[in-house]
Amino acid sequence: MLLKKTVLVLFSLSLPFFLISCSDAPYKQVRMMMGTLNEIEIFDLKKQVAQKAVEKGFDAMQRVDDLMSHYKESSEVSRIKNSVPLETVRVSQDTFNVLKRSEEIAQLSDGAFDVTIGPLVKRWGFYDKEQKPLPTRQEINRMRRGMGYVHLFLRPKNREVSKRIPTLEVDLGGIAKGYAIDLAVKALKQAGVVSATVNSGGNIGFIGNPVKGEAWEVGVIDPLNPSELLGVLNIKEGAVATSGNYENYHEIEGKRYSHIIDPRTGWPVQGVLSVTVIAANAMDADALSTTLFVLGPKQGLVLAEKLNAKALFVLETENGKPELVFSKGLETQFKP
Ligand code: ADP
Ligand code: MG
Repeated sequence: MLLKKTVLVLFSLSLPFFLISCSDAPYKQVRMMMGTLNEIEIFDLKKQVAQKAVEKGFDAMQRVDDLMSHYKESSEVSRIKNSVPLETVRVSQDTFNVLKRSEEIAQLSDGAFDVTIGPLVKRWGFYDKEQKPLPTRQEINRMRRGMGYVHLFLRPKNREVSKRIPTLEVDLGGIAKGYAIDLAVKALKQAGVVSATVNSGGNIGFIGNPVKGEAWEVGVIDPLNPSELLGVLNIKEGAVATSGNYENYHEIEGKRYSHIIDPRTGWPVQGVLSVTVIAANAMDADALSTTLFVLGPKQGLVLAEKLNAKALFVLETENGKPELVFSKGLETQFKP
């Protein structure tokens, strides 16, 4: 089990967990996209072949950023935002796939996951990363009336999308990175890669196994002390994602407000420090980490099981020591 120092430093600064497994000679490239660091690491190919595969992987991720970023005026997500009620916006199959899965997870979570949350995320100061005064209850309630996934219509036949109320915006920040990873994984496999990781801001997709060793080992960061690990998760395949309150937050009057908003109250979620989700694909892992963060462990673990995913909750306690809650069986994959 090797861990390159550069990787450790890089990841500890910006990503929710460290990726620990690697072979003697991986080929690695890092690129900034989707507002975060993205890294593709290939363990089984010679440099020249790996280089070409990595390019294909990053091309796929860049495509997702171009289509689905709410920061880009030319994106399909911005076209939805700029449309008028009941106007039809035709989108790519990729954007449609992500909107469709978002709708399913919104329904399954009773609205805990809601991609129309954007205006509230912005009001809480997470679009321009600028702390704003606390909103009033009236302001929050008014904004909540102007959102809601039920006001977004999806028609699969021609990949058509329309909104029912003028204020509706789409923010795929809780799911698109996962989808980008899945596309990159597909592109890498097509290029002949059999052992690799694709990491986007702490969401990781795995291809095959590490060249040396049976499982991938992923460190889970201690949210109360982000330079330390709580432990290491062994993961055989699929994908993993973490949502944490230590990545992106504002401190107002001594209280921490994180970038994950509970659509049912309009307020940032309190009490959950982080949620790590292991799922078959990175889109589900990404979306579920955000969803479970909102739902909390009781309802969250039920939803995870329903979707064949596993989760580790790190919860705030009175005594200052975080409490760990695992999906059934996951504890055996965790080394403190
Ligand atoms: P990160 O993107 O920082 O890795 P997450 O995957 O948990 O973390 O996604 C957080 C992002 O999801 C927020 O920045 C925001 O764009 C969006 N978001 C916040 N709350 C919700 C929610 N309840 N449902 C869907 N998306 C959300
Ligand atoms: Mg997420």
